[in-house]
Amino acid sequence: MSLWRCGIGDCDAGFRDVESTIVHQTNEHERHECKVCGTVVPEGYFAIRHAFDEHTRAEYVRAYDADSSAVREREAIKDEIEAAVDLEAVVDRLGLELPI
Ligand SMILES: [Zn+2]
Ligand SMILES: [Zn+2]
Repeated sequence: MSLWRCGIGDCDAGFRDVESTIVHQTNEHERHECKVCGTVVPEGYFAIRHAFDEHTRAEYVRAYDADSSAVREREAIKDEIEAAVDLEAVVDRLGLELPI
């Protein structure tokens, strides 16, 4: 059975389910300040979700000095997570309220 990897920086923590991965990313890593709007969001999935749900690709590329392959990579991660995640379960475990 394949594991979900945290993937933040050089963190290689692995989890059996994607919900645990996101809980780990939120609780164990520093928050991320969005370079487009300055909002502070949990690092990892929530940071990617914020960037692509709240901002255009062009804004992201400009603010992060990213190229199109970096954008595609993050969009692929977001799609992969969203195909598997029970976001309500994550939010319950974190004691957060949507929208984050
Ligand atoms: Zn980690
Ligand atoms: Zn933002």
